[in-house]
Amino acid sequence: MSLPSCETMKTVGIRTTKSTVHLFGMKLDALRMPDAVGQLLDWVQNRDGNCHYVVTPNVDHAVMFQKHVGLQRAYADASLVLADGFPVLAAAKLLHRPIPERVPGSDLVPALFETVDAEARAYVLDPSPLRVFLLGAAPGVAERAAQNIEQQWPAVTVVGTYSPPLGFEKNPTENAAILRHIAQARPDVLIIGLGAPKQELWVHAHRSQIAAPVALCVGATIDFLAGEKPRAPAWMRRVGLEWLHRLLGEPRRLAKRYLRDAWIFPQLVWREWAAGRRAVSFDPLKSTLHRVETAEVPEFVDQAGLWDIANSR
Ligand code: UDP
Repeated sequence: MSLPSCETMKTVGIRTTKSTVHLFGMKLDALRMPDAVGQLLDWVQNRDGNCHYVVTPNVDHAVMFQKHVGLQRAYADASLVLADGFPVLAAAKLLHRPIPERVPGSDLVPALFETVDAEARAYVLDPSPLRVFLLGAAPGVAERAAQNIEQQWPAVTVVGTYSPPLGFEKNPTENAAILRHIAQARPDVLIIGLGAPKQELWVHAHRSQIAAPVALCVGATIDFLAGEKPRAPAWMRRVGLEWLHRLLGEPRRLAKRYLRDAWIFPQLVWREWAAGRRAVSFDPLKSTLHRVETAEVPEFVDQAGLWDIANSR
């Protein structure tokens, strides 16, 4: 893809300037939305042969991360880790490791499309479109999302969609076919909506064979773009109540998960806070207090089989 040079794309060099926040064992990139979009476009324009994949942790990810070695590995190799959930941001602030803003996957994708489209509108020549592949969601949903995307952002072309059958991740033939579809479509950006942790584990396992410079693990974003699931109204998102909107929409699937997270997440915050306090040391030479940043994964004791609920998807 050859997009016009533009201010957004000049926000490159983020790799050298972005700061990292350690939280619950995860390393989050403290970026604002425009910087994250700029970084994605930099990877699209200046290909280095790698698939740069992005994960967006929320409370549920933070809880799963504590015990899920596969998820920890997937996070360790991610090119960007962007805070999705409001509680993650609030915890970061409480622990004095502030993150500038939420960059949820379901906002990052439209922001990327909007940036590309705005640049294309401002550009005198006709630039080549951003090529996108949608992987995930129920059959037919990604096709509807594709129509909406191309209608709303003409500078974005959906070059392929695929809804993998249940259990596909354990089927090597199916995985090879998916990777082949992607390679044939030559996307600039692969949008993966398979839910967590499946999407993170899948992209990590296949990252060296994915023929796209950027992959985004973005949960229900394809459903949102298709109008299959409604997004929370803006006011609910602003005050951090998007989870409530989703819970009301899918109570049977999400209630157990949210209950488990509501029980465990405050304990993670407490443990991290206590670990931070222990790491505050007195330096007699300088007579000042130093806070030592800790990336320690809290020792977590399973509570009444709650971890089994995590795997019930
Ligand atoms: N999904 C999928 N294949 C699977 C499991 C899930 O395509 O094997 C899709 C599902 O149809 C939905 C999305 O993944 O579109 C799940 O999104 P959600 O944000 O609810 O994920 P979670 O909150 O569970 O991470």
